[in-house]
Amino acid sequence: MRITLVGTGISQGIPVIGCSCAACTSADLRDKRLRTAAVLEKGNTRIALDIGPDFRQQMLRSGIHRLDALCITHEHSDHIAGLDDIRPFNWTLRGAMPLYAEPRVIEALTARFPYAFQPPERRYPGAPELEVHPLASPLTPFTIGDITLTPFRVLHGKLPILGFRADNLAYITDCSHLPDESKALLRELDVLVINALRHTPHPMHFTLGEALALIEELAPRRAYLTHLSHEMGPVDSFERTLPANVYVAQDGMQISC
Ligand SMILES: [Zn+2]
Ligand SMILES: [Zn+2]
Ligand SMILES: [Zn+2]
Repeated sequence: MRITLVGTGISQGIPVIGCSCAACTSADLRDKRLRTAAVLEKGNTRIALDIGPDFRQQMLRSGIHRLDALCITHEHSDHIAGLDDIRPFNWTLRGAMPLYAEPRVIEALTARFPYAFQPPERRYPGAPELEVHPLASPLTPFTIGDITLTPFRVLHGKLPILGFRADNLAYITDCSHLPDESKALLRELDVLVINALRHTPHPMHFTLGEALALIEELAPRRAYLTHLSHEMGPVDSFERTLPANVYVAQDGMQISC
């Protein structure tokens, strides 16, 4: 199993337009962050986890020319705004792109991209083609090619969203609380990718301290912090304070397990 962290930044990306803070003006390339998303890969199968506004650039930069499915954690713009850019993948797939998401998220996508959800006879030529798979309930595994995923519940403020486990790897973004039944699924992990926004509390996202506490509780072999805000400061200012098995994610990072 391999995961590529194609984007690791907050919803505005880093640098934030017009901001002159230490992270936004850092010359360290590790402080340049596109919006958070990832690609899972095993055998002949590749799955995008979220498709934010930087999706096109991320696919070009990572040299990813073929995808077998999209799995969406939730409907916020920084996780779905790239849907129109799946069109080249319809060519490489020679057909509709399977999309897996909760029914509420599919409704939000349909409201935002109505032309992509028309029946084939009403779709205009060149519109994105999707094959929609609603995920009715968390903790029910599903298989796409060589990858079996188990979605699990994550709370993003009051919004129930999804994380995904595949083999010994789990991917969590935009979490502020992880329910006990999800924690029970996340034992014996080799790799945990988990969001950590900044040092000070936020109603919708873990702080660095909250993310580290969860890492300690779940005890994965390695953990990687993603969805970072410029308010965290430059990587260089906090990376050395982290436990030995916790790493700061950076754009383009590939992790195998
Ligand atoms: Zn800034
Ligand atoms: Zn969100
Ligand atoms: Zn987000």
